[in-house]
Amino acid sequence: MNELELKPCPLCGGPGLYRSALRRWVKCTAPNCEMQDVTVKRWQSRPIEDALTARIAELESEVRRLEADNARLRAVIERAACTLARGRMAGVDPGEWAWMAEQDLVRAVNCQRQEALGLEVQP
Ligand SMILES: [Zn+2]
Repeated sequence: MNELELKPCPLCGGPGLYRSALRRWVKCTAPNCEMQDVTVKRWQSRPIEDALTARIAELESEVRRLEADNARLRAVIERAACTLARGRMAGVDPGEWAWMAEQDLVRAVNCQRQEALGLEVQP
């Protein structure tokens, strides 16, 4: 029978010890801790910690998604800035190059929306 690795005491963080060979009961070995004769299931249960761990994973995933969005949007802004600079250097009418840059942004935003909807991105 594989021995289940006991988590630290849910009350004090001290080490746990099986009470018997059947390994159904656990006690905390820290002095004066109240966690004595606790079922293994209760000892190992950490509903708040598990919920927080799941929430952290969810938020980390969201951060990665936002960082990727941020990188894409920065690229879009740089591309629009290049369009503006090229138009300015080429002597294109300011209204015309502003329109070109705006079109770049509109295309990029549409790509973002398509990606957000899980659609294949049309460049
Ligand atoms: Zn304890």
